[in-house]
Amino acid sequence: MNLILLGPPGAGKGTQAKRLEDRYGIAQISTGDMLRAEVKSGSDIGREAKAIMESGGLVPDAIITAMLAMRVTKPDCAKGFILDGFPRTVPQAEALDVMLRERGLRLDHVIELKVDDAALVERIAGRFTCAKCGTGYHDRFKPTSQAGTCDVCGSTEFIRRADDKAETVSARLDAYNRQTAPLLPYYAGQGKLQQVDGMADMDAVSAALQRILAGADSRVDATVPDR
Ligand code: AMP
Repeated sequence: MNLILLGPPGAGKGTQAKRLEDRYGIAQISTGDMLRAEVKSGSDIGREAKAIMESGGLVPDAIITAMLAMRVTKPDCAKGFILDGFPRTVPQAEALDVMLRERGLRLDHVIELKVDDAALVERIAGRFTCAKCGTGYHDRFKPTSQAGTCDVCGSTEFIRRADDKAETVSARLDAYNRQTAPLLPYYAGQGKLQQVDGMADMDAVSAALQRILAGADSRVDATVPDR
């Protein structure tokens, strides 16, 4: 099963992709995580991507599509994958269509997590993760049970993404609205787009995604409020 989670930064794609990975044994592919690993390693790609990511812009399509083409050949993708943060432009979506066709694969679902723009800055600016085990938290919506200690592994070190600062968030939202939102009509035109209310609580979003993956929902979920 191959699927795409679409939605602006802060919509909950990463959280939900991780849950789907655990539940269905299909690989979460986050191009943002891959780029952050490149930046950390100091590779050529990382050096090129760093400033772009910090400004909230998009890394060139050619770099991203080449990275993705290699990633989907890894053994953990044998049962399928969840694309989280890719595609982000129409040329990336077109490249993905070609890539899948060449490998005899198909896209089973494209699911948009619909959220209010106004809620996103608060959602993003409060995010942090455990430096050791990667568990995600939020200052307001999901604090650690004991201040300064990870609930899962007990570590006391946490990381905040450099591009989660309020000023960068608005540039990232702008990039989404200008360059990524055109993917919604692109996939609707292919009859693949489904929608889930990303403002619902995390468990309700997970349940809605599972219903779609079980084939229980129609192409566009009429229960999603029009935002
Ligand atoms: P994310 O973790 O998905 O929010 O991605 C963080 C940053 O990485 C984005 O703001 C972009 O600068 C870059 N990035 C991630 N995925 C892509 C992509 N598919 N195309 C272009 N840039 C990307």
